[in-house]
Amino acid sequence: MQRFADACERIGSTTRKNEKIAILAGYFVGRRVEEAALSAVFLSGRPFPMRDERTLDVGAVLLWRAVSSVAGMSFEGLEVAYRRHGDLGNVAEELLIGRALVGSTLSLEEVRAAFDAIAAVTGPAAKLALLERLLRRATAREAKLLVKIITGELRIGLKESLVEDAIARAFNAPAAAVRRANMLRGDVGEVLGLAAEGRLDEARLVLFHPTGFQLASPAESAEDALERIAEAVIEDKYDGIRAHAHIGEGRVRLFSRTRDDVTRSFPELLPELSGLPEGTILDGEIVAWREGHAMPFSALTRRLGRKVVSAAIQREVPVAFLIFDVMAVDGQLVIDRPLSERRALLDDLLGRAQRVAAAPVMGQLSLFGEGTRVGPEARLVRAPSYVARTAEELDALFELARARGNEGLMVKDPASLYAPGRRGRAWLKVKRALSTLDVVVTAVELGHGKRAGLLSDYSFAVRDGDTLLDVGKAFSGLTDAEIIANTKWFMAHAIGQRGGRMLVEPRMVLEVAFDAVMQSDRHASGYALRFPRILRMRPDKTVEEIDTLEAVREIYAKQHGVKVRGEEEGEAA
Ligand code: AMP
Repeated sequence: MQRFADACERIGSTTRKNEKIAILAGYFVGRRVEEAALSAVFLSGRPFPMRDERTLDVGAVLLWRAVSSVAGMSFEGLEVAYRRHGDLGNVAEELLIGRALVGSTLSLEEVRAAFDAIAAVTGPAAKLALLERLLRRATAREAKLLVKIITGELRIGLKESLVEDAIARAFNAPAAAVRRANMLRGDVGEVLGLAAEGRLDEARLVLFHPTGFQLASPAESAEDALERIAEAVIEDKYDGIRAHAHIGEGRVRLFSRTRDDVTRSFPELLPELSGLPEGTILDGEIVAWREGHAMPFSALTRRLGRKVVSAAIQREVPVAFLIFDVMAVDGQLVIDRPLSERRALLDDLLGRAQRVAAAPVMGQLSLFGEGTRVGPEARLVRAPSYVARTAEELDALFELARARGNEGLMVKDPASLYAPGRRGRAWLKVKRALSTLDVVVTAVELGHGKRAGLLSDYSFAVRDGDTLLDVGKAFSGLTDAEIIANTKWFMAHAIGQRGGRMLVEPRMVLEVAFDAVMQSDRHASGYALRFPRILRMRPDKTVEEIDTLEAVREIYAKQHGVKVRGEEEGEAA
């Protein structure tokens, strides 16, 4: 493991992508293939390959306990060090220097065997014992890396895509072939082995491991979107959970953008999806959906993270899968075919299934007008697409999408290939103008990572008469210099402590942007902002001038108001 640790150190010491790739490629070439394959997995920040369904199931508390026990240091002591580093791996290294072994004896195979064992046992006590045994066999530097692999990130600026690039360079293979093989196999170590033997083209698709999603870039305006893409495919932008559905071997699984398996959250989609042909991967958005209309995103949150989604919740928050793309058909990856071809494949695939709604009529508010094969109760819906030639037509489509309860539009290039994990210009999103609120900072917390030791997490409030009510928390948007200056200001204006937060005089006014207002009992206001970020400091404003709870309510009503009922029938714009 010593060489692995050396390589990590060298990779972490440069910020240049190319150098990182070169160092890693050199390391791969110099190791036995089995060892290089194991390190490829660890370097992508995982104990097991992506395809492997096992998890260590070691939470933060267990890991803190293991480090605290091996370092012979209390939790409080650990906390002081953690504030300094903002990373438990670095804490472990610091505390173990002088305590841990000095010479390395641990091999990567042994690390993998230890991970196998930790995944196999159940219960925190058994896992803790194995974890401690592993850390005790490591040098301080190795312990740092082990902790980081367990927490899922090495923090040496290495994403899996760079590991793929390094494999390509090490074994003289085209980077695209490595990426493709990794996408098919879901095991970067196995792909390294194939590359080393010059057999990348033998890789065949295995289902049931999460892959990257094609992402969109924002369009400046309707004109901008149309100018950039000729004969664009236009779809509603649904506000739900992006998901890939894998279908095959009599099973169905759904993966989210965070690569989590969310199958259990949507049981009613499974029977429908399992009716589709084997070897299919679909791309779409799971939307809270009642009678053929999207419900607000916040409704969906009631579904997530539950072990069992009760029949009552299924009735209360029905969902539909709005399918807009296909990545695999009949066990063959189709991501390098243009969107126009993938759309034809998708129509063919869904056309064969009995319960998928056909696309609606252009310009119609409801998705389920005349000519659609199934009704609004459908759970699988082929996301309809539209055409627009002028900015006015696009604006009209935008208004219809909003009236259907969707966020805006997606404008896609029909010639584009599916690029997993890329945010390109082939897909553009046209959203509503950004909402902003002026708020006041009420409490602050210490940040993490590069902001460790600084008061960089701000809770903020709006006004309700003379009362201040929190509506959210943000930590991004300010410059380092502003955060440092603000930290000093907060220290001088602290007025108390509550649950790890430092309460401060409510005087600092900020302008925050956000994607949506949601109802929430997390804050006293009863509302929370979705994806808040700080736009700028507003030293020109006083706390009396900040926005009110009433304004928050209004934005909420505008964003979530029931606009569709009653208007929909017969409306054909
Ligand atoms: P954003 O999250 O604002 O960056 O927008 C990108 C997200 O829009 C994607 O990750 C999808 O979850 C979502 N989305 C909604 N509707 C579509 C659609 N028709 N095509 C592609 N992505 C969509």
